[in-house]
Amino acid sequence: MGHAYSLSHFEYFSERDLSHSLDSLTGILNREALVKYINWLVSKDKPFSFFLVDIDNFKNVNDTYGHLVGDIVISQMAAYFVKMSGDRGVVARYGGDEFIMIFEDVVEYNDVWKIGHDINMRIGGIIFEGIPNLAITVSMGIARFPLNADSTQKIMEVADKALYRAKMKGRNCFIIYLPEKHANISLKKERDKQQTQMQLCYTLFGNLMACGEDISQAINNVFKSFISYYMFDHICLETKSRMNHSVVFTLSERKQFTHIPVELIDSLMNSAGYVSLNNALGLNEDSYGPIIRQYEKQKIKSVMYCKVSAYDVDYGYIRVDTSNTVRIWQNNEIALVMTAANVLGLLLHYQKKTLEDLPLVVPTEAGSIE
Ligand code: GH3
Ligand code: MG
Repeated sequence: MGHAYSLSHFEYFSERDLSHSLDSLTGILNREALVKYINWLVSKDKPFSFFLVDIDNFKNVNDTYGHLVGDIVISQMAAYFVKMSGDRGVVARYGGDEFIMIFEDVVEYNDVWKIGHDINMRIGGIIFEGIPNLAITVSMGIARFPLNADSTQKIMEVADKALYRAKMKGRNCFIIYLPEKHANISLKKERDKQQTQMQLCYTLFGNLMACGEDISQAINNVFKSFISYYMFDHICLETKSRMNHSVVFTLSERKQFTHIPVELIDSLMNSAGYVSLNNALGLNEDSYGPIIRQYEKQKIKSVMYCKVSAYDVDYGYIRVDTSNTVRIWQNNEIALVMTAANVLGLLLHYQKKTLEDLPLVVPTEAGSIE
């Protein structure tokens, strides 16, 4: 592509021959060259912002269209990042579906925020030639030097934490690292993530199957473990008449969630017994006006409802929300909440109770980020 040659307006790149510093697939700067550049910025004490950008659910692109199309998408994304960064930023492929953008002298929170917002917005509108139905989103973790870190390695760690939070917040968003919010996030490797997924199942079955008469306590434990792991903003039980067992994530910007009548949701239920809406405000206004008003009032952007039922009796729903940002629901998240809803349904069936029989529990917060 050759666009990386145009980096000559940056002091660091002005005298450098980049011919051996380019990524073979995309033609932009490769990882090694980027790391050298960051080392130089750090050694010269030059302030910069560091955007770690990761394509969302890229495995789905490969699975759906094949690796060759995947490669084309990665290349096109690289070209878009170069275009978006204009002459202000340096773009590199860090590896796989991960890119890095560096903006020298852009470290003010508001300036960084504008760039992040602009990238998310513009990527939403990209049309890929020959792949009409493909919509790509990215998540970004952003760190600033020297504010957040004093070395190349540290800046990457910090941006990785912010990226992790962006992914867990629901993808298609950016997180600017703030130590008071994100310092305690620990990065889980793919294997650990699967381990935790298994632990969540154990927690779920362990609590719900061994709770005796005290279903309430078990539900609370399970909801807290879901909130801590998936960083949902809010989870609760909904019936026609009330909301109960509300648990809110510590980092959620919104803390107050209230009952939303669920009758309308019934018509959206799929045959597996759940509804997952990435963009709840995109529902048809004519049919869902009243429920959309509720979402607007509570600043809810994405919702998931899993039906609590057993043997053809419907007890209500487990409702999960995110506010302020849109969440792209993942299959493993839906599967786990569905499992909880089904186990809870069985428990109510065998104990001959309904959700209305459970005592009202005061809303709680959860979210120790281990
Ligand atoms: P997430 O939203 O969590 O980022 O999900 P993801 O599916 O994008 O997962 P992740 O970023 O962990 O994995 C990226 C995947 O990209 C893994 C690999 O299958 C694919 N990939 C990595 N490099 C290439 C490449 O050069 N070409 C193609 N076609 N696929 C690649
Ligand atoms: Mg990815």
